[in-house]
Amino acid sequence: MSETIYDVIIIGGGPAGLTAGLYTSRAKLKTLLLERMIMGGQVMTTTKVENYPGFPGGIDGPELMMKFQEHCQEFGLEVVTGEAEGLVDNGDYKSLTVDGKEIKTRSVIITTGAEPSKLGIDGEASLVGRGVSYCATCDGAFFRDVEVAIIGGGDTAAEEALFLTRFASKVYLIHRRDELRATKILQDRIASNEKIEVLWDTVVEKANGDNSGLTSVTLKNLKSGESSELPLAGMFIAIGVTPKAHFLAEILELDADGYILTDAECRTSMPGVFAAGDVRKKILKQIATAVGDGAVAAIMAEKYLDGFVE
Ligand code: NAP
Repeated sequence: MSETIYDVIIIGGGPAGLTAGLYTSRAKLKTLLLERMIMGGQVMTTTKVENYPGFPGGIDGPELMMKFQEHCQEFGLEVVTGEAEGLVDNGDYKSLTVDGKEIKTRSVIITTGAEPSKLGIDGEASLVGRGVSYCATCDGAFFRDVEVAIIGGGDTAAEEALFLTRFASKVYLIHRRDELRATKILQDRIASNEKIEVLWDTVVEKANGDNSGLTSVTLKNLKSGESSELPLAGMFIAIGVTPKAHFLAEILELDADGYILTDAECRTSMPGVFAAGDVRKKILKQIATAVGDGAVAAIMAEKYLDGFVE
């Protein structure tokens, strides 16, 4: 029996990966999509997506991702669970190590996305799952009628703060500056929500807990230099994301923050290897741009396989 050599292996099943998979399987390229855990990527932890065109009134993240998957199934995209480790360029083909096994392919599209960044403070790691969380959508409902905080000033922190008001008695939004990075529409919603209090110019220095879990956080006001303790049952950390490209650090060119460097056509430093979505260095990380990237990477992979581009 001849050994399978795929035309395209896509690593990661979020919006970029699923879009690339839709395009390559529709183009009848022999495609395998590898997903380490749950299909759908970060969108799976989003309650309502309001800025993806075609869904007036918004759509729940998991529902949108289910539609992406159903659409790929129409064209027979092969999906397997597995974690890619190595990537070697053998000239005619590339090999990936997946759960200890070698898989061969003529091209690769990396769509591994990003994961929530950590604060790196004392008590954070030991209290994860016991009051400290990186996903309000996933864990918010456990915090009914108690006081919680969300850390960060971006769109994620703002959206999650609003979501948490459904359950918590009070939500502190703790931000290190005196201005939110979140879009104006979210800033307005934060300002007009009576359950939310913003603590400006403030950082969390320590998460304090006992056997039952998180009990308080130690805060520092960066303007006054004053420290204080805030009793809390939950702390949600939403300070941005870290790209999931560590396994490629010695193989592809990454920037100082670990994002894969590509040209405008999603080509990485290795011929035949493309990167799309949040793992790629780019200006805007949205579902719409991930989808755009996925389509570009797929078309470029097709051109590469046909010998039209290097
Ligand atoms: P982000 O935009 O990078 O914001 C991260 C926030 O965390 C910033 O306010 C930053 O403060 C703060 N921060 C970073 N490191 C910190 C630290 N060590 N300690 C305390 N605070 C820290 O990340 P994001 O909100 O996750 O958004 C990521 C991308 O997804 C963005 O492009 C965003 O627009 C997009 N997104 C879009 C939507 C939507 O369109 N509905 C929803 C969610 C996310 P500074 O402001 O001081 O830097």
